[in-house]
Amino acid sequence: MTHALSDRINAMSTSATLAMAAKARELRGQGKDIIGLSLGEPDFNIPDFIKEAAKVAIDENYSSYSPVDGYGDLKAAISRKFKRDNGLEYGLDQIVVSTGAKQSLANVAMVMLNKGDEVILPAPYWVSYSDIVKLAEGVPVEVPTGIESDFKMTADQLRAAITPKTKMLWFSSPCNPSGSVYSEAELRGLAEVLRDHPDIYVVSDEIYEHINFRGGHVSIAAQPGMYERTITVNGVSKAYAMTGWRIGFIGAPAWIAKACTKFQGQITSGANAIAQRATIAALDAPLEKIQFMIEKFHQRRDLILELLGEIPGFKLNVPEGAFYVFPDISDYFGKTLRGKPIANASDLAMYLLEEASVATVTGEAFGNPDCIRISYAASEAEIREAVRRMKEALT
Ligand code: PMP
Ligand code: GLU
Repeated sequence: MTHALSDRINAMSTSATLAMAAKARELRGQGKDIIGLSLGEPDFNIPDFIKEAAKVAIDENYSSYSPVDGYGDLKAAISRKFKRDNGLEYGLDQIVVSTGAKQSLANVAMVMLNKGDEVILPAPYWVSYSDIVKLAEGVPVEVPTGIESDFKMTADQLRAAITPKTKMLWFSSPCNPSGSVYSEAELRGLAEVLRDHPDIYVVSDEIYEHINFRGGHVSIAAQPGMYERTITVNGVSKAYAMTGWRIGFIGAPAWIAKACTKFQGQITSGANAIAQRATIAALDAPLEKIQFMIEKFHQRRDLILELLGEIPGFKLNVPEGAFYVFPDISDYFGKTLRGKPIANASDLAMYLLEEASVATVTGEAFGNPDCIRISYAASEAEIREAVRRMKEALT
């Protein structure tokens, strides 16, 4: 019956990360022992002090619609967070709370893009960017990067990608899927290019800001000339392990925030009230409270890099943030393993699922067909066993 569906939905791809997670779940349901390294989701429980705040909110009857753009005291907490962590001053009229950073991104696309507007996506990029841009009738313009440049776009590449139709640049740092972190000098280099193009806006997706092993997160909005044209996207899914509670937010010029609020007012009426109340507790807490999770991710990064380094044909960068490794596995293309031809990254991801019972995600979904993405937001035992199985299936 897809002919009865809109062209819009028929043209959209299914989220590859969520699809792989669903497939892993299905196989597990059939009794298969699948290790899921496909979904970027912390395996920690939400810290107790955040849970307590949610329980209090229920007892205090936070059961009505919140203001569309979020509770004022939550926006005040977000404003303090931006100042504390990013050196950014956002007033309450510059902040919009949404149902996850994913919705924050969708709001921005819907309010900023006209048909045919180009959006530069340094590839690899997070899986949903291209479909969100296309949904808003924008045109994703991929700028390929490889392991030799640590999967980062240079200022020269940005300059070369700009056309009269360029409306926006979207990127994440720390990056999902590569784990790469742009340095302040690199961000300044990009800002310098954009100085000559005052009509280009930037979406800076900083959802992994705290999961940064080099320390000292830098926001592009804090670079000269960037504040007035940057939408800084963040949320509590990753650093606070609150994925299912669905709270994301933006700091942006007030006119963009206002437009996002207008859009959201017709689409969702605003984010979940209880989760908003809990987010105040999360953001106001000292960062030391979540440090144990960051330290664990750091240890797991070191472990998985060491273990994957033993598999021939895996070329690895050293991810400095987020919780993914993104090995270039193109050495396998053209080979046949256990009778199965491996022509591309999707074949290899499928091979690892079938032969090693390990779920990963093909790099194609992130705009880089030479790589696969492996999430190490899993226990040390799972990581060890997963890599052991992968090595066995590949050698
Ligand atoms: N941006 C990036 C780079 C992500 O990895 C994710 C992962 N979910 C999101 C945005 C969306 O996060 P959420 O909607 O859970 O806040
Ligand atoms: N962002 C996570 C990932 O990349 C969660 C899945 C999703 O939101 O698509 O795996």
